[in-house]
Amino acid sequence: MAKSDSKRKKPTENMGLVLFDEVGGICPKCTKPLMKKSKGQMIKLFEIAHIYPNSPNPHEAELLKNEEKLSENIDDESNLIALCRDCHKIFDNPRTIDGYREMVSIKRELQRLSGLKKSWFDNSIDKEINKVIASLASFSGEALEELSLEALKIDSKSDKTLGGLVKLKIKDNVRYFYSDIKSKFSELDKSEPYTSDMIFSQVKTYYLKLKKQGLDQTQIFSALTDWIKNSTGCKNTEISEILVSFFVQNCEVFS
Ligand SMILES: [Zn+2]
Repeated sequence: MAKSDSKRKKPTENMGLVLFDEVGGICPKCTKPLMKKSKGQMIKLFEIAHIYPNSPNPHEAELLKNEEKLSENIDDESNLIALCRDCHKIFDNPRTIDGYREMVSIKRELQRLSGLKKSWFDNSIDKEINKVIASLASFSGEALEELSLEALKIDSKSDKTLGGLVKLKIKDNVRYFYSDIKSKFSELDKSEPYTSDMIFSQVKTYYLKLKKQGLDQTQIFSALTDWIKNSTGCKNTEISEILVSFFVQNCEVFS
């Protein structure tokens, strides 16, 4: 145990970097940029706030006594968040249950998203998929061979955690693009056997990891979209969503 938990430890510069990065450079409460350029210098506009207070006064201790703590160690990064000065002030004075709970849930979501980003590096996807992406990127908008409505598998695979709009998007993507993408993958196999099987199994593995982490279907759709977008030469959300929809129909996802 630390000698004194109430002693204020100044967060290190690296801790500041990690927390600044975690919020994507903007205040997670009000979206104010947390850094600005002035006279050629970068000026830091954020403060590092303790979510559970560093040295709670008796009123705060009583107020939060039944609330969950993100870490037993008050100075641990999981109890810290980068906020603009105004939001930090509002959060601390006065401390409220609602304010505390809101900050806990903001932090949890940030942790979830940064955990997903970190997982991209360990879960690569075969570069050959870029050929399929390139063919989608050059799509002219002309009609493709449509899949029949009866052939769609999403209805039988989705649960109530899949948002209606996402489900509709998957249906449309599958109807218009499934057959075309399937034939692109077959072409890959002709020049290099088992390429599509390898890509399908990489997608399946990453899907199962997300499922194991407890993500719901809407979160999984979005996490897979981000993964493909960032781990390939894609950089295009629509194409990435079309591919994830393909993998739903092709049984790597939600199966
Ligand atoms: Zn703010």
